[in-house]
Amino acid sequence: MNISVSIYDKLKSYGFKLTRGRKLIINFFIDRNQPVSAMEIMDFLHKRKINLHKTTIYRQLEFLLELNIIRQLQFADRKKMYEIRTSDHHHHLVCKNCQKTEKVASAALETEIQTMEKDILAGSDFKNIRHSLEFFGLCRQCQ
Ligand SMILES: [Zn+2]
Ligand SMILES: [Zn+2]
Repeated sequence: MNISVSIYDKLKSYGFKLTRGRKLIINFFIDRNQPVSAMEIMDFLHKRKINLHKTTIYRQLEFLLELNIIRQLQFADRKKMYEIRTSDHHHHLVCKNCQKTEKVASAALETEIQTMEKDILAGSDFKNIRHSLEFFGLCRQCQ
């Protein structure tokens, strides 16, 4: 099923309305397929002549977070980014200068991490651990 359709269906099944602003924000997340900031969402809407107040955008983001449609990413002291919640496991590459963020996935890396996680679990009482890992660098424009 198309990802936007499945999100619309989820909203409808919970009895929520699919307002124009909400629909545009969801589609923006899907089209970008990369983490975005609230500012980027606002710019995108402005260009489409839709002037939503910053607080409205944050309210929409809160709403999508509560429904587990998006997830929030916090990179150290950087501003918050958001991305659509998908089942694929990935990490992020973050530009230290402009905060442009890309998804990265590496099977080799995951194999290494699984070995490390086994070691960590063997030495602790924890269960069901997961990891989060970000890489920082300079993007093409900032080099
Ligand atoms: Zn950059
Ligand atoms: Zn991983």
